[in-house]
Amino acid sequence: MIEKRQFYIDGQWVDPVTPRDHAVINPATEEPCAVISLGDQADTDAAVAAAKAALPGWMATPVAERIGYVEKLLEVYKARAEEMAQAMTLEMGAPISLSRSDQVGAGTFHLTNFIRAAKEFSFEHALREDIPEHRIIHEAVGVAALITPWNWPMNQVTLKVGAAAVAGCTMVLKPSEESPLDAILFAEMMDEAGFPKGVFNLVNGDGAGVGTQLSSHVDVDMVSFTGSTRAGRAISKAAADTLKRVHLELGGKGANLVFADADPEAVKRGVLHMMENSGQSCNAPSRMMVEAPFYDTAVEQAAKAAEAVKVADPQQEGDHIGPVVNEVQWGKIQDLIQKGIDEGARLVAGGLGRPEGLNKGFYVRPTVFADVTPEMTIAREEIFGPVLSVMKFETEEEAVRVANDTPYGLTNYVQSQDPARVNRLTRQLRSGMVQNNGTGRAAGAPFGGMKQSGNGREGGSFGILDFLEVKSVSGWAAE
Ligand code: NAD
Repeated sequence: MIEKRQFYIDGQWVDPVTPRDHAVINPATEEPCAVISLGDQADTDAAVAAAKAALPGWMATPVAERIGYVEKLLEVYKARAEEMAQAMTLEMGAPISLSRSDQVGAGTFHLTNFIRAAKEFSFEHALREDIPEHRIIHEAVGVAALITPWNWPMNQVTLKVGAAAVAGCTMVLKPSEESPLDAILFAEMMDEAGFPKGVFNLVNGDGAGVGTQLSSHVDVDMVSFTGSTRAGRAISKAAADTLKRVHLELGGKGANLVFADADPEAVKRGVLHMMENSGQSCNAPSRMMVEAPFYDTAVEQAAKAAEAVKVADPQQEGDHIGPVVNEVQWGKIQDLIQKGIDEGARLVAGGLGRPEGLNKGFYVRPTVFADVTPEMTIAREEIFGPVLSVMKFETEEEAVRVANDTPYGLTNYVQSQDPARVNRLTRQLRSGMVQNNGTGRAAGAPFGGMKQSGNGREGGSFGILDFLEVKSVSGWAAE
């Protein structure tokens, strides 16, 4: 059993003020794999005080030096990649091959992009070249609370820490209590990279405790949050009294518009994207909307692709999917599958219960529903499991209307070989991101949503901007 009860505050590992044990459950075995501590107000206060004390020094550190620390961090991160992959597989059940490639790889990708973006970023410049006495200074927002989820843990942690570090913010990270081990390891890496004390602090805790304490703390200048829309709302309310900045990356219910002229791999690609990470991705294309003439073929292809998705122990290498994160999520997914059946959707792959041969662990059958209609619960709620809803549309207009008829607006997708249509729909879809015909996201492309999917933009120069204030100077003196 791993025991990691300490927090990282002011450059050292410290015991919690009032120890409160929390068991981390391995979702593949349903057994505890680690014990951590949940912090309380005194721990939160200590971490915030350390970040506040470190702020003037860190803000005054030249950008090139701050970038240097992130470069060192990236070196350490790469050297300890295997430990990181093992930690994530253990605590949240991502198959080890996926942990090594995409889960760890996301961190390498984001840190690399921040280093490049920060080198190119103009932190200070004249408002216009002909009026140099009017100047724009981008300076750190201040002490940033970083609250992260368990589903792509290093992706979220590096998106926030990398950006905050180069921007000159000091930080308190509160990772998800479901996946604290990767964040504890990450804190060790920050220490090894030699960041000045107090720049980065880590306090474990839950939403009701440390999460709320950080959101309402008078000395926290901003909260950068990734997680559920429910928690995003609670954080916004808790932050309101101190009027701090709140950046939110929340849930999604992505539409994947598949036209009859889509490329031959489009349906299979959509299914595999949905099932990846056991369906636990905020940008999952969970509503596959298919043009009527291609609908029956697409349903057949989708069922076949889902049936070919293997489910197995995350410790095994391979391209299977693992369990979902915990019992609550497993139960919620089962309830939604039952709702799909009850409300009249047609089950064409998977269904209720565990996959054959897996009697323990929070495993879910890769599931596809056809004939889903827009008012059904499975078409409206974020399921956060390997469950795809296939829907039919007749016209482009109907497709856009249904795709946009959701409180969410994170990522939508278009599959068509008609360039004019692809671009027309891209403009009409109300989401922070649109990805067409299987094109991956470029280095530094901003990640974030519209509507109730949030308001932050993470990654590259856009991500750095999220941690910066704009100071408008009139009367900048010529030296
Ligand atoms: P969650 O909202 O339950 O928890 C996320 C984090 O918030 C955890 O650290 C948790 O302890 C904390 N938290 C919970 N309640 C809080 C409160 N009242 N105040 C302060 N902190 C609180 O979400 P989860 O179950 O860990 O993650 C899944 C959700 O995250 C999904 O809805 C998913 O779509 C979303 N997500 C969004 C993105 C994105 O970038 N848009 C990325 C990944 C996940």
